[in-house]
Amino acid sequence: MNLHGDIERILFDETEIRDTIDRLAESITAMYGGIDFTVVSVLKGSCVFASDLIRRIPVPLELAFLGVSSYGQGTESGPLEITFLPGGNEIEGRNLLLVDDILDTGRTLQRVRTELERRGARDVKTCVFLDKPSRRVVPITPDARGFEVEDTFVVGYGLDFRGRYRNLPYVGALRAEVLARQP
Ligand code: 5GP
Ligand code: MG
Repeated sequence: MNLHGDIERILFDETEIRDTIDRLAESITAMYGGIDFTVVSVLKGSCVFASDLIRRIPVPLELAFLGVSSYGQGTESGPLEITFLPGGNEIEGRNLLLVDDILDTGRTLQRVRTELERRGARDVKTCVFLDKPSRRVVPITPDARGFEVEDTFVVGYGLDFRGRYRNLPYVGALRAEVLARQP
């Protein structure tokens, strides 16, 4: 089975993604202006984005990961649970750049942000690869974002459908029959 055949159309190709990451890296570097910070990548979705992004930022930084699960299968998300967090010494008193794959309703980023602040982060900024502002429920605006995306379910470049398609090098929309397939 070839993954590419399940994609109806490509929204952002590899070249566009590379250019966008260069722009984001530049703006993040300027945003911190030489202050130490830690990139906190929300797993699993942001691992591809975070890996590419940090390699374009030419100043010292640290890297941490946390996991969030929502009890939803398919394309709808359920209640959120933060499954693991960096240790206290990676949060308390630190300047954190919270990195996620996509900002949709805003619940995930808000929930994680509040928890990091509760655990003593000095400052929490946010950077998302994709932003779907039309779907926002919680009022949150990212400090940096790659692309604005329409209200379509997308996969690739870290984003999954039922655990798959994260390894596509571009962002695309799945064909309707793939979305409708029984799990
Ligand atoms: P929020 O909490 O902002 O509603 O949702 C954020 C999470 O929902 C993302 O981290 C991602 O896991 C999931 N999500 C939202 N929209 C999409 C989408 O179009 N495609 C995929 N694969 N995941 C999405
Ligand atoms: Mg996610």
